[in-house]
Amino acid sequence: MPQFALNPTSDGHSGKASPADVRRRNRQLIFSLLFPTNQYSRAELGRRTGLSRVAVSEVVSQMLEEGLLRETGQAPSTGKGKRGTLLSVDTDRLRIISIDLTQEFLLHGAVTNLLGQPLRHTEIALEPNAIVSIADIITLIEETLTMADGPIIGIGIASPGVISNGVVLSATMRGWTDVDLRTPIETHFGIDVIAGNDATAGMLTERFFGKGGTNMLFVRIGRGIGSAVLLNDAPIIGELHAAGEIGHISIDLHGPQCPCGKRGCLETLISGAVLRKQMESATRDEQHRILIQAGHRLAQALAMPVGLLDLADVCVYGQPDIVNPVFIDAAQQYMDDATASAFHKHTTIRRCECGPDITIQGQAIAVALHHLAK
Ligand SMILES: [Zn+2]
Repeated sequence: MPQFALNPTSDGHSGKASPADVRRRNRQLIFSLLFPTNQYSRAELGRRTGLSRVAVSEVVSQMLEEGLLRETGQAPSTGKGKRGTLLSVDTDRLRIISIDLTQEFLLHGAVTNLLGQPLRHTEIALEPNAIVSIADIITLIEETLTMADGPIIGIGIASPGVISNGVVLSATMRGWTDVDLRTPIETHFGIDVIAGNDATAGMLTERFFGKGGTNMLFVRIGRGIGSAVLLNDAPIIGELHAAGEIGHISIDLHGPQCPCGKRGCLETLISGAVLRKQMESATRDEQHRILIQAGHRLAQALAMPVGLLDLADVCVYGQPDIVNPVFIDAAQQYMDDATASAFHKHTTIRRCECGPDITIQGQAIAVALHHLAK
């Protein structure tokens, strides 16, 4: 089951729902309409959800009491009847702790509001090749908690790698195999822990605060390569929680040896670490050629899922020394050559502009959505 529902009307449940299920679904529905920054009256929420006035009032008053929503003023007059009070997501009361484990030399934490926006930051600097332990993460969370100015609804932890039910099955960057992030941290703090993949976290921020719509392929180029897919506003999780793990798909079976045992994995060809090493001692012209080839290879790897799923939007997140116009234009050119046809509309490859807090914010959003679904 997905950890969150962006689109609670299509969660695939069938059969008879219990009153608790109905209440949960109604909460999610109302929250998703107001998230992140919409303002509607109770009457408008009723119109948009199809729920009765009584049902909307009941759910809204509970959510007001819990600190999830707030009243923000009067709706503009429509000339008929009395003006309703506008509601929005309350960003002042509840807090989330979000931890970003994606950076090589830094553990980054933040206290965020319900929109995932960081209010206070904490960090622990790492030595090169440092082994990150659960105790380090707990120390960072403890420090972050001291800065929280409201009740905490959950702790989010975003990490590269395949993550299933709170366990990082494999994360090459940290050398982790089967590392349970959730159980020890949840036990230590007595607060819900939502651990998730960093590309999925990035995609959530892009969806709500960037330019992404309800269908997108989100790619993250860092030390490794990860991706996430959103289809009809539902993140695709996959059979083994490994959807989007494109870094270890080989696009050249005779390519360089990869630590995973295969050859020519996408990660051995175009990860940030590999490209930076290649460009280090290269001339400007050579650097251009390296980036153009990398752009081509990315598009070569993505052309098939783009065609298969009929995706029109590919958003690429990464540092600007790699994910820059030279790289993006080369990827776009290759994608056009590989996919253009009468029945496939133009797929745009673009750079993600969400900034360095993208992971912190996205994982906090995952916590908020999980909290709503409880
Ligand atoms: Zn590999």
